[in-house]
Amino acid sequence: MKNDSVFVYSPDLLGYKFSDTHPFNQLRVQLAYELLRDSGCLDDDQIVLPRQATDEEIMMIHDSGYVEAVKQAGKGQLNREIALNYGLGTEDTPIFPNMHEASSWIVGATLTAVDHVMEGKSKHALSLSGGLHHGFRGKASGFCIYNDSSIAIEYMKRKYNARVLYVDTDAHHGDGVQWAFYDDPDVCTLSIHETGRYLFPGTGSIHEKGAGKGYGFSFNVPVDAFTEDESFLECYERSLWEVADFFKPDVIITQNGVDAHYYDPLTHLSVTMKTYTEIPRIAKKVAEKYCGGRWIATGGGGYDIWRVVPRAWSYLWCVMNDQAPSGQIAENWLKRWTSEAKYPLPPTWEDESGIYKPIPRKEEITSKNRATLEKSLYSIKKSS
Ligand SMILES: [Zn+2]
Repeated sequence: MKNDSVFVYSPDLLGYKFSDTHPFNQLRVQLAYELLRDSGCLDDDQIVLPRQATDEEIMMIHDSGYVEAVKQAGKGQLNREIALNYGLGTEDTPIFPNMHEASSWIVGATLTAVDHVMEGKSKHALSLSGGLHHGFRGKASGFCIYNDSSIAIEYMKRKYNARVLYVDTDAHHGDGVQWAFYDDPDVCTLSIHETGRYLFPGTGSIHEKGAGKGYGFSFNVPVDAFTEDESFLECYERSLWEVADFFKPDVIITQNGVDAHYYDPLTHLSVTMKTYTEIPRIAKKVAEKYCGGRWIATGGGGYDIWRVVPRAWSYLWCVMNDQAPSGQIAENWLKRWTSEAKYPLPPTWEDESGIYKPIPRKEEITSKNRATLEKSLYSIKKSS
């Protein structure tokens, strides 16, 4: 079944650009797309064009006043004071021309992925430009104007009456999505992230379990700074299986931020490509067991756009398609981008061993993470 999976892409998705110096750089989506094409891993008939989301769709999560403010900001018509109240015009989320339209493409791309899976046209779908997870109902936050992750979940609830499991492996806590569904027992959120002690947005503790009827449907596994592959994967794999078995979702949507990589400039974790080859493999198995295979994946964070994001996101697509590239990276791709890249491009799909010095506190970090994992899954044990 060739079109088991679809890849949502068009150059319209690259217009989400705050500035030339902002760390969020959608060139990474193009880099991943081209790497897949150059590697022979993405065929024409697997590519699906996105649409723009409508205002009504965006307002399933965001307040109308906020959407109006984003529109005005993008036309240069919003007063600075008012903009700041909406989280617009900050260092993290600066105003740029046509920001409403650019953000609507991102949301529409993720909704396109959702429709493909929920209408049964394909089992899996990938929306790499999406996966924004920090934006709130009435406020931009953390590079996120419209929270396509939350909108996609609400859309699946309303249009397809689905129980949705959201799984977030970005190094930052998926706060916007968690709060949007905090009191909702039909949406379960699981976020594995670097502890918020020193990292934005500061939330995501094991004690954030949900509220009201949604109590017990929000899971957080905050791992220590310098966490490496084995421990990160242990936390991810165990929590995902246990949470899926507890919640029994109709569909899984994963946020595949890749900013936990050792090379990432914004975070303090120490995972490598090994983690990014395993994360999608396990998600796919879990979707197969509990959801008839239904799995939508998005991108998210990832700020080493040269050495990490293209390989990690390409690999995610390959796993969806039962491919496992290894060894040399496509020569054409390396040739095309070497002179523009900020760092020497890794020549192979795998990271070389020893990209960082051994972490002296490894054992301590591993056992601390294991204790955190036990505590965050405790409510499941108690209820079963
Ligand atoms: Zn992040």
